[in-house]
Amino acid sequence: MKVTYTYSYLPLRNEEFNKERRQRYLRRRYGLKRRNIRSLFTFVFTFLGLLFIFGDKLKEKFNFRKPKNIIFMVSDGFGPTSETFGRTYYQYVNNYTYDQITPLDKILVGQSRTRSYDSLITDSAAGATAFSCGLKTFNYGIAVDPNSRPCATLLEGAHDKGMLTGIVVTSRITHATPGAFLGHAVNRNEEDFIATWLAPNITSNPNYDRQVDLLFGGGLCHFIPSTEKDSCRKDNLNLLEKTEYTFIDNRFLFDNLNETDVLPVMGLFTPDHMSFEIDRDPEKEPALWEMADKALKILSKSDKKKKGFFLLIEGSRIDMAAHGNDPAAHANDILAYYKTIEVVKKFVDENPNTLVVSVSDHETGGLALGYQPNKVYPKYIWYPEVVAKVKKSTNKIAQDIENLINSNKNNRNNGEDDDGGNNELYDQTVNMISKIMGINDVTEDELKYILEPKEERKTQDLANYLAKMVSHRAKIAWTTHGHSGADVNLYAYGKNAKLFRGSKENEDIGRILEKLLETDLKELTERHFSNYEFPKKENNTIMFMSKPKFEEIHYHQNL
Ligand SMILES: [Zn+2]
Repeated sequence: MKVTYTYSYLPLRNEEFNKERRQRYLRRRYGLKRRNIRSLFTFVFTFLGLLFIFGDKLKEKFNFRKPKNIIFMVSDGFGPTSETFGRTYYQYVNNYTYDQITPLDKILVGQSRTRSYDSLITDSAAGATAFSCGLKTFNYGIAVDPNSRPCATLLEGAHDKGMLTGIVVTSRITHATPGAFLGHAVNRNEEDFIATWLAPNITSNPNYDRQVDLLFGGGLCHFIPSTEKDSCRKDNLNLLEKTEYTFIDNRFLFDNLNETDVLPVMGLFTPDHMSFEIDRDPEKEPALWEMADKALKILSKSDKKKKGFFLLIEGSRIDMAAHGNDPAAHANDILAYYKTIEVVKKFVDENPNTLVVSVSDHETGGLALGYQPNKVYPKYIWYPEVVAKVKKSTNKIAQDIENLINSNKNNRNNGEDDDGGNNELYDQTVNMISKIMGINDVTEDELKYILEPKEERKTQDLANYLAKMVSHRAKIAWTTHGHSGADVNLYAYGKNAKLFRGSKENEDIGRILEKLLETDLKELTERHFSNYEFPKKENNTIMFMSKPKFEEIHYHQNL
């Protein structure tokens, strides 16, 4: 029999199967003999009566009510092996013993299963939508359902309930994860459009007012007209022109923000993503934990209506470092996330009516702690000390090396002695690699690739090569520059944290949060978007992620 497969070979959900199984389970577990039924009825009615009379008091007493504040944290692209990697690195750089656990380890409650609607490997857009709307969508979809219709998000639900809302990220604020909480788009690449959800005076949706009270992150470029230097917009819209937001773009203004009377506030500290933690200049950019701390202070102090707040915090660049297979940038963004968790846990301890949930959308990089470079059976070891010696992201080191090559070229064009110039370049590069990457055994072949590439080479290719030099020496390896399909860890702390125990489908995490917010996202979707149409594009440039065929998923004949 010939089976035709579409791109997704496992059905997403088998409702019938589950229903039948559930009924069988209920019969088995709660099967009752007839003679017991009458007394059971009496008992149930008495109980319901009492619950009716004392229900509210009971609820209060046993904390069944919704937490006042919900903090939802995403460690983008942080898979289970990165957890071990991060923990060992944390122990190594802090001189802790092997049994010292991380701030995340202390609040582990379960696992999240990460596949998206159309693929066994999700991207961050579908991953974030599973959390924000409580439903699975196709890769690239930003808070839209599989039919490309907008779905209301937890943040919109919280705003609708009169809560304050905030977003703190290290990526562009219009990037996939924050995008899927603050707006809606069929394609994550439409960041110019995603930004317009923060400018309700520009959006064409009459059912929609400003939903986000506080934003800290990067990505100014999508808010300013294309005529300005740092812009990346394709049009001349200035989204900050008539904005309600108090707008800040630097460290000084951030440090001096009034904490009691500043909402709505938007701080965009870089034109593009904020820096990797390893490259961050603290004079210019606040750290993730500083932004989280400030956001918690502002939101809790400004909560005049006492309805609480919903805050999204994302360690966005853990993922991007893993895309580059860059162990040092990955490790340092993980440590920044740990610090942020500590700040948030402290807030929860001081405000026990708060819940924090932390989860990854997917694993990135397919990290392996253990690497066999050749046929010789490997030793069972990997070396965090190799990673700890690296002082910049490989993206930055690659730029430094290219600058060195270019200035050397210029000198030569100015008539300096050919061979001498070349030797000097080799020496300078060896020096730089020793100083910034801590590698003192760079090989002839490596130097050849770095300084005399045979074919045209992008900066990213050089960065990837440098990252491999570090990984191989640390005896770790990566299976991909993309994402993997692994389950990821799930953490929760504070009020009702127990609801997140066990193995969850990613969308269920969104649904539990929806219940805890006491909002109905289906109803809100109707109210906000039943008549909404996405603006038509003149030339449809949407580029969907290629959908894998079954054969591509399962066989590798060509390898
Ligand atoms: Zn990613």
